[in-house]
Amino acid sequence: MAGGIGRRLFLGGMGATIAAPALAQLADAGFFADYPFKLGVASGDPSADGFVLWTRLAPDLSEPGAGLPRRPLPVRWEVSDSRTFAKLAASGEALARPELGHSVHVTVSGLAPGRPWFYRFIAGGERSATGRARTLAEADADVQQVRIGVAGCQDWQAGLYTAFAHLAREELDAVFHYGDYMYEYGPRASFLDRDTGLQVPSVRRHEGPMTFSLDDYRRRYMLIRSDIDLQNAHAAHPFLMSFDDHEVVNNWVSDIAPDGTPPELFRLRRQAAMQAWYEFMPVRAEALPGADGLSGPWRHYRFGRLVDARLLNTRSHRTDQPCGDRFGTFCPEVNSPRAEVLGRAQEDWLVDGLTRRPGRWNALLQQVMMMDLDRARQAERGVNPDSWAGYAVPRDRLLRRLVPVSNLVVLTGDEHQHWAGHVRPTGADPERTPAAAVEFVTTSISSGGDGPGERAEHAEIRRRNPGLVDVCDQRGYSVMTATPEAWTAEMKVVDTVRTPGGRLSTHATFRVAAGASRIERA
Ligand code: FE
Ligand code: CA
Repeated sequence: MAGGIGRRLFLGGMGATIAAPALAQLADAGFFADYPFKLGVASGDPSADGFVLWTRLAPDLSEPGAGLPRRPLPVRWEVSDSRTFAKLAASGEALARPELGHSVHVTVSGLAPGRPWFYRFIAGGERSATGRARTLAEADADVQQVRIGVAGCQDWQAGLYTAFAHLAREELDAVFHYGDYMYEYGPRASFLDRDTGLQVPSVRRHEGPMTFSLDDYRRRYMLIRSDIDLQNAHAAHPFLMSFDDHEVVNNWVSDIAPDGTPPELFRLRRQAAMQAWYEFMPVRAEALPGADGLSGPWRHYRFGRLVDARLLNTRSHRTDQPCGDRFGTFCPEVNSPRAEVLGRAQEDWLVDGLTRRPGRWNALLQQVMMMDLDRARQAERGVNPDSWAGYAVPRDRLLRRLVPVSNLVVLTGDEHQHWAGHVRPTGADPERTPAAAVEFVTTSISSGGDGPGERAEHAEIRRRNPGLVDVCDQRGYSVMTATPEAWTAEMKVVDTVRTPGGRLSTHATFRVAAGASRIERA
C-alpha cells in the first residue's frame, strides 16, 4: 500500500455505512449458490469500547475465490447485548472486497466497557452463526479477575482440533494465539514422532502443495477455518492474534528464509503470506502488510489495572538465527552485540509502556521461549537458536530495562510442549539470582501429534536447568487467571488428537504470588 491516501481510503471503507448507491444493495435471498458463512465468525483486538468482527464470504470452499463474483459485496453486521438480538447496540454494512478475498473486518467502537457482546452477519438472505465478543475494562477500572486462554501450533495433518472444542467451553476474557495457525507444508502421509524417532501416520491431509502464492495460503486457511472446533473457539472468545514462523515458512526472520532464498524473492512470498494472514484474522486494519510487507504490529491490551498485556512480534524485526540455526548447539554468535529480537522501536515501546504505567500483572504475549535453557543433548552447552536464548545481548538488555517492572509473566508458544520456569539473565545462578519473570510456555493444539507426557530427553533437560519447574509433551492449551493476589496457570491436556472425543484434564496448576516472581505448584 503506497503512501497514506490508499490506506485512508481503505480504512474509510471498513465497517462504515455504505454511502455510494453504486456499491449495490445487500444481495437478495438466493444470491449465493450455497451457504456463504461456512468459515464461521470471529472477534479480536478488543479495546474498552469495541473490537474487530470478522467473517469471510465463502459459499464454495473448493477454490481460493470461493465461487464469488469479482466485485465488492455488502454484508450487514449486528451487535447486541443479548443472544436474541432484541435490541441492537451497533449495526451497519461493510464491504467484502475481492482484493481481500471477500473477507470482512469491522472495527466496532462506542460500546460499553468490560462486558460480553453478541454479534452476527447477514448477506444474501443468509445469517451467520452468533459469536460472543467482549470489551476490555476501562484502563483504570478496579478489575478483580482476568482469565486468558493461550493456544497455538495447530498443524492440521498432525491431529484434530479437540483442544479447541474444550477451549470454546471455558469462561475467558480473551484467548492469546501465539501463532503457527497454519503450516506451509504440502500433503504428508506421515510425520516424525520426536520422542521415538518413528513415523506416525497423518491424521488428515493438507490439500494443495507447499504454500508460496497468495492463493496457496488462502486455500490453506480456508481448509483450516472449515474446522468446527476451531470455529467454536473463535465464536466463543475474542482472540489476540499473532503469527509465528509457519504462517510464512519454518524459522523465517525478517527477510531471511532458512533455505537461502534471495531476500528480494522471499519478500514476495512473505507479502502473500501476510496478506492471507490479515484476510483470515480478526485484527485491525493496521495489521495489513504495508509497503514494507511487515504486518503484525505490536499491540497493547489493558484489562483495567489488573493486567497490562503486550503482544509482541518476534519474527519481523529479528536478526538471523545464530549457529546456522542448528538446535542444541552453541557458537560465539549467540553473544553478538548486533543481534536483535524485537528491534529497537518495538523494544522501546514495550519498555516505555511498562515502566510508565505498569499493571498489577504485566504479561508479555509472544512466540518463542525467553528462558535461556541449556538444550544440548551431549555437548557442554547448547541453545535453541530460534528462541531468545540464541540472542543473549538483546535478551539481557530487555531484562535489565524491565527491572523496574514487577509481576512480569511471559506467555509463549512454539515448543509443542508445556513448560513452566523462571527467566533470569543469561547464565545466572538460580540459587543466587531472583527471577526477572516467570514464563509459561503453552503446548500445541495438535502439532507433534499425541505425546508421551514425559519424553526420554526430559531427565537430561531438568538436570541441566534447575530454574525449570516443569515440562510435558501432550497436546492442549492453558488458562491464565490473574487476581490481585496471584497469577494461576492451568496447563490443560487432551488424551488424544488422533480420534474424535479426546478427553480434557489438567496436567498441572501453577501459582505465582504477587510480588514473588516464583512459581509454585498449586
Ligand atoms: Fe509450531
Ligand atoms: Ca513456531
